[in-house]
This record gives sequence, structure tokens and C-alpha cells, in this order.
Amino acid sequence: MKYKSTRNSHLRLEASQVIAQGISEEGGLFVPERLPAVELANLADMSYSRLAASIFRLFLTDFTDEQIESCVSHAYSPDKFGGEPVKLISLSGVQGNRHLLELWHGPTCAFKDMALQILPHFLAVSLKKSAPDKQAVILVATSGDTGKAALEGFRDVPSTHVIVFYPQNGVSPMQKRQMATQEGANVSVCAINGNFDDAQTAVKRIFTDDGIKQQLAEHGKMFSSANSINWGRLLPQIVYYFYAYFELCRKGKVQLGQPVHVAVPTGNFGNILAAYYARKMGLPVKKFICASNANRVLTDFIRTGVYDRHREFFATSSPSMDILISSNLERLLYALSDEDSGCLTDWMEQLAVQGYYDVGDRVRTKVQELFFGGSCDDAGTSRTVREIWEKDRYLVDTHTAVALDVYRQYVEETGDNSTPTIIASTASPYKFVEDVLGALEPLEKGDEYAYMARLEALTHTGMPLQLKALKEKPVRFKEVIQSGEALRYVLHTLGIGGGEK
Ligand SMILES: *Cc1c(COP(=O)(O)O)cnc(C)c1O
Repeated sequence: MKYKSTRNSHLRLEASQVIAQGISEEGGLFVPERLPAVELANLADMSYSRLAASIFRLFLTDFTDEQIESCVSHAYSPDKFGGEPVKLISLSGVQGNRHLLELWHGPTCAFKDMALQILPHFLAVSLKKSAPDKQAVILVATSGDTGKAALEGFRDVPSTHVIVFYPQNGVSPMQKRQMATQEGANVSVCAINGNFDDAQTAVKRIFTDDGIKQQLAEHGKMFSSANSINWGRLLPQIVYYFYAYFELCRKGKVQLGQPVHVAVPTGNFGNILAAYYARKMGLPVKKFICASNANRVLTDFIRTGVYDRHREFFATSSPSMDILISSNLERLLYALSDEDSGCLTDWMEQLAVQGYYDVGDRVRTKVQELFFGGSCDDAGTSRTVREIWEKDRYLVDTHTAVALDVYRQYVEETGDNSTPTIIASTASPYKFVEDVLGALEPLEKGDEYAYMARLEALTHTGMPLQLKALKEKPVRFKEVIQSGEALRYVLHTLGIGGGEK
């Protein structure tokens, strides 16, 4: 299997190269040259780890079987996920045919663990091939979930060092606590005085500075990236859609081969794109229900064929979906425009320069055949958390609530309430406890642990031990810097040049 770029169809790279490199030189995203077809019956009865290894073997053809198995067993061990990594929970009731795919049983209680527990191991193997003896320095700017998941994934992975910057006032108290108490010998966490954009800009500036690259090289180090456009983050997400489908078969909810829908709370378009790739490999998915919060740039795109990022930005109760540029959409459009990399180059340039692009009737029609787009604002999110609790006795987080509400809209608009639908449940309700508890009853004044204890008492659901344990852990990282000081922080952390600048 070779890989090409959405902006250069002639490229042919190995899996290890695209994982190590992250993004293609001309700015495009790496995609496999084709999606291998699978025979459902051959995969149907595997454990999660065996299924994952079987799928990875089709894509990571320059890895040995031993390397793939080692990556999988490090990533998805029962002590990290408390059993099989994902669970499928079927809701009864009249509101459609809903099956929640819980993807948040990993160390950080959000679905990003599914990819970030294994990416560091993919990366370590890839670097050994392309840059042996080098230490990879992973720089991350985070608005919350990614930073913690990257820290947990990379902690104590040999030949790596991970440095996370987060906006001082842009993450939830629980997310801040998760990062500030991080353990591991190769991790650093620093708050930036500013918003997420300030953190992101600082990181980008360091990444693209040739002088710094050179300086790192002299010390046997190189930058690498763990952000969500890396193919090594997308690939692991394909696995759980197959697994969920086979769980439906095992439970007798579908016959092997019978179609389902998939509904996903969407931000950067990575999770839902993985479901689309699963479909191209043979998973019988009829419709993709793409759920947005008040930042409904994707809803509008699916309905009109025009992607327009010039709009008001809303900070919502589902912050991990607060995004106006959904990077991974580029990969879908590449597939739906018959892999026309010239076309993609033009659209992405228009997006950068004018702030919008129009894919035209032909591609828009293809998008609409496969995707239903809908959005749900904070009031709708809160109402959904409450309704799902009251009617179904199931507690969901704010992101998952957005998907449940948009699925409800889909059923109302189409009348299709019988097709079994896999709904991605992307975070533990305890991770966004203030908004979840606030949806169930008026909030008293308190800190996040008071809210968690109250939510536990009210719903008799268990607080995740991963979050509970943080209360006792010492805060290791307290530093707050100006965004202009990020470079000095990185050099100092790595022990290069004294960090004076
Ligand atoms: C990142 C995230 C999302 C959005 O996923 P994308 O792959 O970016 O579309 C949804 N929910 C939660 C909890 C997340 O952390």
C-alpha cells in the first residue's frame, strides 16, 4: 500500500513516511492509494485487538506483523481501557433505532485515546525506519482533549518528548487539572496567556522555522506532529466502526450485510471520515449523519455545497467541536471529486485567501447522497442531555448529545426510524460535568469534584476512576508564559542553547 496526497495524486510514499511526516510537502493530506476491500464474514468474530491488527496490516504494509502486534498490544491493553476498548449500548424507546458506541473508556475519558494511544507506537516504528537515533519532539497546541490524550499516549514512549501548550483561560477546570498533573519523564505542559489561536500560532511558528529545525538536528532531535490530520490518527478510528457493526450482529440487531447509519458529533471531520473509509472497505453504511453544534459550518456545507468560514465563532458547551475549518473534509472531497488534486489545490487556496469555496453541483450531489447534516445549539444540547436521561436512563456528555439530537432531526425529516444507527459517543459525561449536571438540575456553587459527586449521587452512574484519581495527584506544571516565549520554553525544556533568546 502506497500513499498519495490530496494535492498531488502522483506521489507514492510508504506508510512509515506519511506517519513520520504528518502532512505532505505541498500542504495536502496523505491518503491511501486505494481502500482495500474486506470480506465481512472473515472479520466478524475477532477480539478488538485482532480486528485492529487485521485492518492495520492492510494499510501498514512496510511494518512487520510483529511490529503491528506490538503496537496494538501496547495501545489497547485491558489495564488501560478496563476490558475491550469500546462498548456498544443499545437504547430502547421510540426515537429511532439507536446504538451508542462508547469510545471514551481510555485513560483520558474522550475518544481521542482510541487514536492517541497507538499513534506514538506507530510513530516510533516509523521513525526507526526513516530517522534512527533521532528523538522526536511532539509539539501540541490544544483546546482541551487532544493535549491530555497526547500526553498519555506519548508518556514514557522511548525516543519521544511531548510538549503541550494550552490557553490559560480556554480549557475546562478538569481539562487543566488533567494536564497539570500529568506523569511521565518525557512530558512538558505549559499554559499560554491567550486563547487557543495564540497557542496554535506559537506552535506553528516554531514548527516552520528552519533555523530551529537545524538547531534541533544538531542535537539529534526532530519535530513531529500528533495532530488529527496525521494518517496514523485516522487509521485506528476505522477499526471501531467495524467492531460496532459486528457487535450489532452478535446482539442480533442486524444480519451480516444489512445496512446501518452512522451518526457522529463532528469538529475536524476525522471521526466521521474514518466511518466513510470503513464504508469504502465494505461496511454497509447507508447514511452518515454529521452533527455540528452552533458552529454549523459543515451543516451549511452539506446543504449548499459552499464551505464558508467567514462567520461568527461560538464558544459552546461542546468545546471539542468548536471549529470553523474542518481539515479532514479535504480528504472526503478528494475522494468525491475522483481524486482531482488540482481541484483540491484550488479549493483549499480559495479557502485560505477568500475564506470560502463552492464545490459545484456534481460534488454537492454526491455529498448529499451520503451525508445528512444538522446542528444543535447549547439549549438543544442541554435539553437532549436531560431528555435522554429522563426517557432512556442513559447519561450522555454534551458532544454525544449533539449527535443524538441531530439523529432525532434526521428521523423527523425522513421518517426513517427503523434503520439501526451507530451513534459515536465521544466523551464521558463526567468530563464535561458542569454542563451535564446543569442540564439535569439547577447548579449550586461548587468545584468540579463537588459536581462530579453530585452527578454520581443523582444518576447512580460511576465516576471514572481516571478522573477521580486526579484529585490526589500533585500539580507538576504551573508555568504560564506569553505566546512570544514559547520558543524559549521549548529550547529550555529540551536543554538546547540554554534557552536564552
Ligand atoms: C475531538 C472531539 C470531537 C470531534 O471529532 P472530530 O474527529 O474532530 O470531528 C467530538 N467529541 C469529542 C469529545 C472530541 O474530543
